Amino acid sequence: MATVTRFAPSPTGRLHLGHAYSALFAADRAARAGGRFLLRIEDIDRSRCRPEFEAGILEDLAWLGLEWEEPVRRQSDHMDDYAAALASLDRRGLIYPCFCTRREIEAAATAPHGPEGPPYPGTCRALTEAERGERMARGDAYALRLTEGDTVVARKDIRTSYHLAVVVDDALQGVTLVTRGEDLAFAVPIQNRLQRLLGLPMPDYEHHPVLTDGEGRRLAKRDRALTLQSLRQAGVSPAEVRARIRRMGGAF
Ligand code: GLU
Repeated sequence: MATVTRFAPSPTGRLHLGHAYSALFAADRAARAGGRFLLRIEDIDRSRCRPEFEAGILEDLAWLGLEWEEPVRRQSDHMDDYAAALASLDRRGLIYPCFCTRREIEAAATAPHGPEGPPYPGTCRALTEAERGERMARGDAYALRLTEGDTVVARKDIRTSYHLAVVVDDALQGVTLVTRGEDLAFAVPIQNRLQRLLGLPMPDYEHHPVLTDGEGRRLAKRDRALTLQSLRQAGVSPAEVRARIRRMGGAF
């Protein structure tokens, strides 16, 4: 089976060296295998995403010398695919509504926070059908969680979640190798569980180290000087960007 990789940024800011590394890594894995490289815009959280950042992503990646297949999949255009996956989970009784606020979850949490915030204490899993119906009739906002594992599959404000959208998209796009930073390694068992429940193929996974600055801190949006846009404006070439990523420990 031909290798299909993808780079899946969220248009919430300009791309920095860390994103460039992720994109180059994914494109390199596809190229080495004579496979295909895809780009996906992860913009389910419309309040944090901006069209100019999406345009910036395309501009920066093209400048780096990357080529991807068209059309680019934009998650916000495919909410019906996520709704279909939710309906399938719901029909089989695999999800439940959760009315908890963030503050309630924080207050009830007894274990330390994981990568996605405080662990969910399971409060709403125990609600009766009557209680659920009553709260829904009252118009209380609710997220949807997996009964087996409490993972959020639909947020209160957005009828999908990061994990649900990613597994649906990876399957629909035929992605066979998911490459991303080690900071997302925690997501593999969660996404594998969703793939199993939804009957989706399981891609392979490969994680790359997360680039850090001179002081060992992860690169972040605050590092303005390290955006591809500012590097380009400062006269840095794409070849120098690649060399800099390698000097920071990035291998691709
Ligand atoms: N959209 C995610 C991010 O910007 C990446 C998701 C993924 O690769 O699964 O970090």
